[in-house]
Amino acid sequence: MKNQYRPYGSPDLAALPRCGAKTRAGVPCKQPACARNGRCHWHGGKSTGPRTTEGKARVGQAHYKHGRYTRAAMAQRKAFAQLFREVRALLGKRK
Ligand SMILES: [Zn+2]
Repeated sequence: MKNQYRPYGSPDLAALPRCGAKTRAGVPCKQPACARNGRCHWHGGKSTGPRTTEGKARVGQAHYKHGRYTRAAMAQRKAFAQLFREVRALLGKRK
């Protein structure tokens, strides 16, 4: 059921409660309402992001691609760069 394509006029979407906010045209908004506040994403505002620790972890996992920018990987690159600078300085002195 998740991610299943539903055209706008399908019964599933039509059965949802409507937003009902007063639009600039003066008529109630007909967008499907969010479960959270009873308004659509225009009239109730956008998502403010994950709140729970579990939700934040899930978003972190979703954005994780290859680990190149993890704290551990960045610290390792920094340490190696410093090591190479020191080695180059030592080798430079010997010439
Ligand atoms: Zn609305």
